[in-house]
Amino acid sequence: MKIYVEKFGGASVNSADAVKNVLKILSLEKKQRIVVISAMGKTTNKLERIVNLFFNEKKFDNGQYEELIQYHNNIIDNLFSDSEKEICKGKVLEIFSEMKEKILRLPSSDYNFLYDSIVSYGERISTLIVSEFLNSNNLTNSLIDSRHIIKTDNNYRDANIQSEETRRACQEIILPELEKNSTVITQGFVGGSKEGLATTLGREGSDYSASVIAYSLGAESLTIWKDVSGLLNADPKRISNTKLLRKVPYREAIELSYYGATIIHPKTIKPLENLSIPLYIKSFLSPQSEGTVICAEEELDPKVTNFIFKDNQVLLSVSAKDFSFIAERNIASIFSILAKHKVKVNLIQNSAISFSVCFDENNNILPLLLADLQKDYTVKYNTDLQLITLRHYTATETEDILKHKKVLIEQKSRTTAQYLVMQ
Ligand code: ASP
Ligand code: MG
Repeated sequence: MKIYVEKFGGASVNSADAVKNVLKILSLEKKQRIVVISAMGKTTNKLERIVNLFFNEKKFDNGQYEELIQYHNNIIDNLFSDSEKEICKGKVLEIFSEMKEKILRLPSSDYNFLYDSIVSYGERISTLIVSEFLNSNNLTNSLIDSRHIIKTDNNYRDANIQSEETRRACQEIILPELEKNSTVITQGFVGGSKEGLATTLGREGSDYSASVIAYSLGAESLTIWKDVSGLLNADPKRISNTKLLRKVPYREAIELSYYGATIIHPKTIKPLENLSIPLYIKSFLSPQSEGTVICAEEELDPKVTNFIFKDNQVLLSVSAKDFSFIAERNIASIFSILAKHKVKVNLIQNSAISFSVCFDENNNILPLLLADLQKDYTVKYNTDLQLITLRHYTATETEDILKHKKVLIEQKSRTTAQYLVMQ
């Protein structure tokens, strides 16, 4: 059986019209498919606010809660006939009430646990609405609870997928459903622990869910439907004349996301690469357009320079208090301090007496990190910097991009040039 996986993100289900468009896209071709869906619009952010207020002040944010119910009801009102509407709203209200009851009842001393228990409701509600809507429009489907198929550990908010258990569960649970209905719907972003509790895979994790399902079933392809035409060689807000990348090798896609390209969740590629499953990134506004395919191709097509900009960078330089050389022993201790504060280093440079690292600014962490480092080292730092990465750079493009910029650090390999600049 040929199986296809398709993923619709929050923006592709953020209104009744958007949900109708999902039906239109799915109706273009008849195939056996798993449809992975995110929470509608900005629902995840709103649920996060409910969790934060409850965690910090023990207050239930009723305003936000009512707003969320209203938002979903409004979508339902514009999707269903009068009699169906009330049934669907009733089911949605039931799930919301369960969530409220849960937040008031659960022990809330573990933020990450509370977060996953509550924030995962966004996907439960979106999939229910989409599934019912498709069912009432002759696209019969089975709704499967992702807690039963995406098996993870208990590392709440950034759960690790247990790939063998997940593969088995996907095969055992999804395949029989696909025999009954050619379409199966499930939640992105949400998995389940051994105990059956909800876990989440990190913000924007639905891409990763879809990729793991595609891997587990040996799917023909994964398609991610987005509000952009595909992968571009730069953010159009930063650079004019961007180009659409038609084909991107897996390795290149992993490199791009490592350097900060944000269009797909970084963990998405690996499972697909393992089985050479192509990943299509297409526009839900123009489903017939070609888009981008990430696949086992050798070369980027077209072969253009890719530009990646990361703002809010800190450059921190560490030297020994007695100006002795910075050697392996110091570097190990510096890195263990960085790791303790969960700092993800974007660039490293060292000289005889100083060791410099660049990372994303996080004001909560910087003072603590400095305090720790200053116990043993002299530390200097700059904030508000920008890290520019050019993959497959050319001299003219580099010159252009650096015009009027003061470069603090420059690093080049055969394929990649990076510049840390003052903004
Ligand atoms: N709904 C989650 C988020 O907004 C997961 C996703 O959309 O991929 O982060
Ligand atoms: Mg999203």
